[in-house]
Formats: sequence, structure tokens, C-alpha cells
Amino acid sequence: MTTPSTMMALVKESPGPGLTYKDVPVPEPGAGEALVRVVNASVCGTDSIIYDWEPWAERRMTTLPRITGHEFAGVIESVGHGVTGYPPGTRVSAESHYFCGSCYQCRTGRREVCRSMRIMGVDADGAFAQFILVPAVNLWKNHPDIPDRVATLQEPLGNAVDTVLAEDVTGKWVLITGAGPMGLMCLAVSKAAGAYRVIVSDPNEYRLELAERMGADIVLNPNVMPLSGPVLTATSGNGVDVLLEISGSSAALHEALPLVTPGGRVSLLGIFGGEVSLRLNEDVIFKKLRVYGITGRIAFSTWHTVSRLLSSGQLDMAPLITHEFHISDYEKAFELMRTGRCGKVVFGV
Ligand code: NAD
Ligand code: ZN
Repeated sequence: MTTPSTMMALVKESPGPGLTYKDVPVPEPGAGEALVRVVNASVCGTDSIIYDWEPWAERRMTTLPRITGHEFAGVIESVGHGVTGYPPGTRVSAESHYFCGSCYQCRTGRREVCRSMRIMGVDADGAFAQFILVPAVNLWKNHPDIPDRVATLQEPLGNAVDTVLAEDVTGKWVLITGAGPMGLMCLAVSKAAGAYRVIVSDPNEYRLELAERMGADIVLNPNVMPLSGPVLTATSGNGVDVLLEISGSSAALHEALPLVTPGGRVSLLGIFGGEVSLRLNEDVIFKKLRVYGITGRIAFSTWHTVSRLLSSGQLDMAPLITHEFHISDYEKAFELMRTGRCGKVVFGV
């Protein structure tokens, strides 16, 4: 198959809401780069933020036009000078955070907090296109037992692995606030990692049903009753060992933090809309909690973990992929995501 000179792509053309599905040139791989033919791509909350042109997107996306999207699976089309080990047809995904490799963090084993991080689909052209250029150091070879429509989820699953496994969860009571795709992935990872019981809270009943289908032991709607009663009853008054905050709602954090047992652990993945004030003395310090901020993935240790959990069948993403669209139906996909009546949305490209 010869590489065409143009391709269809979802492009943020100018500041403001919406995206444009249009014909653009296929890029050519330079030294150290690979051109990947995209098969599936999945939609992240960040893509909705870019679509809706929320303040984060406006602040962050200063160079337009930009092809969006950063979760994908595909096959190597061609590689540039100096790239070895990726013959055409190799099935790949990629780490979406492009590290500089030279800052203090990159040079001290903390690439996930690189000071000059560039993000695929935000600072560089992304995966909502028939082809994407990726730095070869970011490529990940996909396991033969993981189909492309699932392999595209490896990127966000890496965040979930990092969130859940910041410490061991074996035999622990886990409370997850927020049952969006990220919260549900954290649920799946917690169960795979041997958590004792997982409690999931979300005001969205559709998502609570999904959580139940994915193995949540207790689901709670904070709009129906406060979490404290059922959580303290279930845990014999002790509270949970682990809180995973995956909603980005300060109300959720305020409600859940007092339910963590003294000496417990908190992982924060949800992104809050602004400043959050906490009763640090009562809810963190005197309880000797360990609080982790989580961002991105650990490349590539979380990729190994995710690939193994998926290929072994320990993680089942079938219930989470609730909708699949051809990429040309992107408007329907973003409209659906706005309703919250979905799990993960996957594009065929
Ligand atoms: P999402 O918006 O689909 O899900 C958030 C869920 O939280 C929704 O289902 C919503 O109903 C629920 N929620 C709202 N208020 C709640 C409350 N009071 N109690 C419990 N649940 C409540 O988003 P997502 O894609 O699943 O991502 C979840 C969060 O993780 C977002 O804040 C996102 O920005 C963040 N995130 C962070 C990183 C990172 O690297 N730190 C990466 C990916 C996503
Ligand atoms: Zn760096």
C-alpha cells in the first residue's frame, strides 16, 4: 500500500468551539520519527475541553491549526533516519507525552513531570487523523492479543495504573469518587490488583450502573444520600484504606477525605476547576494520610503493567467501551460525551 499525499483529520483550525474534519497533507517522518497509520483512536475528556474551547484549551493551544487526539492504536507506515526495530506493519500505540530528555526531572528519572513536556494533540499534531508522526522513543509495540480498539485505551489505563498502584491495594477497602472513564478504569485496575472491596460514587446513575457491571462492590449516589453512612457501616466504622479522587469535584473530595481511615492513602487524579481549601489539620495531618498527586504515566513501566493486565485478561475493557463511531461522526461523539451517558468512546479512523 503506498502512502497517500493527503489524509482526513480532525483539526482545531481557529480559536473557538468545534473541530473541522478536513483533508490535510500526510506528514513525512524526519530523523527519529515514525509515521503511523491510525486504526482506532479514543476520546479523552481533554479532547472535549479542546472541542468546547474551554479556558484550559484557550490558554494552552497557542499554535493553530492543530490536529487533536492523543489515544490511538495503529501500524507503522514508515520511519525516518535512525529509527530501527519498527518495520512497516508493526502494531503500535504511543506515549502521548513528549519528554525533553534534558531538564532536571528528565535527567533524574521523573520524565512524567518534564518541565518542557509537549503533549500529542495539544502541542504537536495528534491522532484524530489517518496518519500521525510520533517520536520513535515514544512508540509502544502492541501485544498480539490486544485488539486495536482496546490497545487505544492503554494510554489512559496507564494513568489509572499509576493512580491505583501508587501503593499496594491488596486486601484494601478502596473508595473511588467519580465513575467517568478514568474512575471506571481505576475500578478495573483496583479489582485486578486484589483490592478487598471497591466503593464507587457518582451522581450519574448511568455511570453507577456501568460501575456495577465492572465489578464495583458498592455504588453510591452522593445526591441521594451522604456517603458517610454507607461507607462507615460497610467498613465497620473504620473508613476506607484508599481514596482515589477521579471526579475533579471539590464537593467529592470534601465528602470523601474524612472517610479515609487514619494512616490511609489518597491518590488525586481528578483536575479541579480552581483552588480547593481543605481541613488539612483534621483530615490529613493528624490522620497521617499519604497524598499523591498523579499526572500522566510512568513511561514505560505503566505501559508494561497495562499491556500485561490486558493481554492476560486480568483487565476487561469490554463493558467500558460503550460507543464506537467512525471519526467522521465526531460531532455525535462529543455530543454524547456531554450527556455523560457513555463510558469510553472509540473512533474507527
Ligand atoms: P468525566 O468528566 O467523564 O468523569 C468525572 C465523573 O465525576 C463524572 O461521571 C461526574 O458525574 C462525576 N462527579 C461529579 N461530581 C461528583 C461528586 N460530587 N462525587 C462523585 N462523582 C462526581 O472525566 P474522566 O475522563 O473520567 O476524568 C476524570 C478526571 O480525571 C477529570 O477531572 C480529568 O480532568 C482528570 N484526569 C486527570 C489526568 C491526570 O493526568 N491528572 C488524566 C486524565 C484525566
Ligand atoms: Zn524534560
